[in-house]
Amino acid sequence: ATPTAVMVATGVGANHGVLVKGGDALERAQNVKYVIFDKTGTLTQGKATVTSTKVFSGIDLGDFLTLVASAEASSEHPLAKAILDYAFHFHFFGKLPSSKDDIKKRKQQILSQWLLEVAEFSALPGKGVQCLINGKKIVVGNRTLITENGINIPEEAESFLVDLELNAKTGVLVAYDCELIGSIGMTDPLKREAVVVVEGLKKMGIYPVMVTGDNWRTAQAVAKEVGIEDVRAEVMPAGKADVVRSLQKDGSVIAMVGDGINDSPALAAADVGMAIGAGTDIAIEAADYVLVRNNLEDVITAIDLSRKTFSRIR
Ligand code: ADP
Ligand code: MG
Repeated sequence: ATPTAVMVATGVGANHGVLVKGGDALERAQNVKYVIFDKTGTLTQGKATVTSTKVFSGIDLGDFLTLVASAEASSEHPLAKAILDYAFHFHFFGKLPSSKDDIKKRKQQILSQWLLEVAEFSALPGKGVQCLINGKKIVVGNRTLITENGINIPEEAESFLVDLELNAKTGVLVAYDCELIGSIGMTDPLKREAVVVVEGLKKMGIYPVMVTGDNWRTAQAVAKEVGIEDVRAEVMPAGKADVVRSLQKDGSVIAMVGDGINDSPALAAADVGMAIGAGTDIAIEAADYVLVRNNLEDVITAIDLSRKTFSRIR
């Protein structure tokens, strides 16, 4: 392909919301053999909603939600946003003004009034968040994070989690002052086009793979819904890049599609990194492509564009 052809292809891509950062990435995409998809926010909408809550040790549900929402207030994770929305509705349902902008502004005001003061906040990608509230440590996240903090997960909590997971939902655990105080069940539906895109890739001779930091049971339930057989679950951010490298070993060209901070090492390691436009800035920086429309069909558009542009020199 001539430089002009590359320039034209870049322009065509841009018109379709597929931004490519260079001719090299554009060229590599034609030979992609595996497309690795992150789960949360990539295959799924990244708009989780809370489906159930369970409190332990007699804490009041409102107090529980206030604690959790305060801890999650600085997190960019889709699960964190869902928890904040839920807590907000719980406390203020029926008090909202009618216009959307007003709701947003009012929500900000209200949130800042009732969220508790947080110190030493840290987000642990692939695990959850932790911080201090009233001088005591709150930990919100998955089993790994709770266990790492030396906190015991009672049978009641474990069976609540398993129940959620078998139904493709994610359960988040909450510990405060070294005690498990509750759990929140969340669902994050697949993107509408996900099934068709996975099917389309298979027809193109490309293998779809799903990689996620989420637990095995949820991962497998979601993979089954979307038609992906090759699943890697409970993978930490650095581990996502290892999955990329292990598939590259036989010389295969790997595309990685992701949206989160936790995906950026894998996006950088992949031959073709594709970031979801609605994703975090760090993911967008690490990627070769940005899919501005947040539509997975553009994974196919990008590969097609490369195949068409470079077919003559193959
Ligand atoms: P994915 O790889 O599917 O995008 P992540 O690696 O972002 O998923 O997260 C993996 C798991 O870590 C989540 O399913 C959740 O259990 C936990 N987790 C991550 N961030 C948070 C958070 N802010 N609050 C609660 N749990 C979290
Ligand atoms: Mg994600």
